[in-house]
Amino acid sequence: MIRFEQVSKVYPGGQKALADVNFHLKRGEMAFLTGHSGAGKSTLLKLITVIERANGGRVSINGHDIAKVTRSQVPYLRRDIGMIFQNHHLLMNKSVFDNVALPLIIEGFSIGEIRKRVAGALDMVGLYGKERHNPIMLSGGEQQRVGIARAIVNKPPLLLADEPTGNLDPKLSMDILRLFETFNDAGTTVLIATHDLGLIARMKYRTLTLKQGRVLGAEELNAQDGLG
Ligand code: ADP
Ligand code: ADP
Repeated sequence: MIRFEQVSKVYPGGQKALADVNFHLKRGEMAFLTGHSGAGKSTLLKLITVIERANGGRVSINGHDIAKVTRSQVPYLRRDIGMIFQNHHLLMNKSVFDNVALPLIIEGFSIGEIRKRVAGALDMVGLYGKERHNPIMLSGGEQQRVGIARAIVNKPPLLLADEPTGNLDPKLSMDILRLFETFNDAGTTVLIATHDLGLIARMKYRTLTLKQGRVLGAEELNAQDGLG
C-alpha cells in the first residue's frame, strides 16, 4: 500500500528531514512510526499525503509513483486517505454532525446518504447521539473521536494518524488505539506516528523508528536503550 525507496527530503531552507528511508506497509497492515520530536515523522506522513514532495527516491501509494501524480490529481489520491491529527483540526463553531459530514459534502453525497454515514461513523467511535453538540462542549477524548469519525466517514482504505494521543491520558490513549485496531480488523491499513513508546510496547504491531531522518535497523535499536 505504501512503499518508500531511498527517500530523502530536504526543506527549502536546507533542513534535512529524511535520508535514505526505505519501508513497506502492506495492505491491511497496522504499524507505528516513532522517534523523537524532529526525527521526521510528520514529514514522512506529509510525503504520503503529498503535502510535501520528496527530493530523492521513490514514494509509491497503491502502486502509484507519487512523483507522477499531478497537482490536479492530488485531491483524488487524498480521498483514499483518512488523516487524524493531535489537535483534531475541528471546526469548533460547527456541530459534530457538520464536522464529520464535511468530507462527504465535498464528495457530493446526497443528504440522506450523509445522515446515514455520519450516524454510522459516530456509532463506531462511541459518539452516537452527540450530533448536535459543538466540539467545544466535548472532552478532549471525545473531540479526538470526532476527528477520527471525520477521517473514517468515507471509508478510506488507508488511515494515517500524527500523534493521535498526544493530549490524552494513558487510559484514553489506549482506547483510541483499540479503536484504530477495530478499523484495522475491518481491513483498513493504519500507520500511526507517536513518540509514546509506553503505548506501543503494549501492542503487538511493527514499529518503524526514525532518528534524525533515518530509519533505525534492529541492530541499532538493540545497541541503544530506547531512542538515544
Ligand atoms: P517529527 O514529526 O518527528 O517531530 P518533522 O517531520 O516535523 O519531525 O521534522 C523533521 C525535521 O524537519 C525537523 O528538523 C524539522 O525542524 C524540519 N522541518 C519540518 N517541517 C519543516 C518545514 N516546513 N520547513 C523547514 N523545516 C522543517
Ligand atoms: P509536530 O511536532 O507535531 O510535527 P511542530 O510544532 O514541530 O509539530 O510543527 C508544526 C508545523 O511547522 C508543521 O507543519 C511542521 O512541518 C512545521 N515546521 C516544523 N519545523 C519547522 C521549521 N524548522 N521551519 C518551518 N516549519 C517547520
